[in-house]
Amino acid sequence: MFVMKKVVLITGASRGLGRMLALRFSAGGFRVAANYFRSKDAALAVVSKIVDSGGEAIPLCADVRSSVEVNSMIDAICERWGLIDVLINNAGITKDNILPKVKIEDWEETIATNLTSAFNTSRAVSESMVKKKSGHIINISSWSGLKGKAGQAAYSAAKAGLIGLTKSAALELGEFNIQVNAVLPGFMRTDMVQNLSGSAKDKVISSNILKQEQDISEVAEFVYNLSLMKNISGQVFNLDSRV
Ligand code: NAP
Repeated sequence: MFVMKKVVLITGASRGLGRMLALRFSAGGFRVAANYFRSKDAALAVVSKIVDSGGEAIPLCADVRSSVEVNSMIDAICERWGLIDVLINNAGITKDNILPKVKIEDWEETIATNLTSAFNTSRAVSESMVKKKSGHIINISSWSGLKGKAGQAAYSAAKAGLIGLTKSAALELGEFNIQVNAVLPGFMRTDMVQNLSGSAKDKVISSNILKQEQDISEVAEFVYNLSLMKNISGQVFNLDSRV
């Protein structure tokens, strides 16, 4: 019997966690729509790696801050593969500074990239998910959004907003069998944290009970398995050992 492969859209799939998610979902048999914005070569490398190992993937350049670009990207995926089964809102940035020094443009870019992006994509995919009466949206939030972090007011506000969006969307979309969940990875050694000082990195790691940094592949494994669950929605999963 011919079984249609499921389709996942991952925002920010060119680097870091998004790249790892693309590889994990492909290994699980998904068709992968790999969104990127600035890192074209890196995104093409992710797609080539998937295709070379027998999977299906397409690179999609779109600035997730823009609803126009997001809508075109989602139309292109639906034209090619019919629908999107799983959406992972992973794209993110930090522009850290203490509150009195946060520039308004940095605040706006941080909110737009981490939060408005998820509104843009979720709104655009939910129509077809509602029609199909299935779908799963997973928002990559952060511990900073739960507890706040000095020097990260904009990022924390955006990631907290993502948790609010997760819960509200789960309440609205549940009757259509659409699941919406948030995942909070722990400290991952990606480009995002490369400018943090050694002592700042040590501080985050030592605030964990288990004194470990996050293994990115473990986060990808968790998100992949969560996407297959049928009876979990509106939940927030913190993946490290901070309490
Ligand atoms: P990363 O390595 O810096 O990668 C960020 C990704 O976001 C890149 O693929 C980038 O794509 C994409 N992106 C940025 N702006 C975009 C835009 N306007 N449109 C489309 N894509 C855009 O970061 P990461 O550490 O993997 O982070 C992934 C997620 O995990 C983020 O949501 C982050 O907040 C969250 N997180 C990270 C940590 C950590 O310790 N690293 C901890 C908790 C949560 P291009 O390069 O192609 O523009």
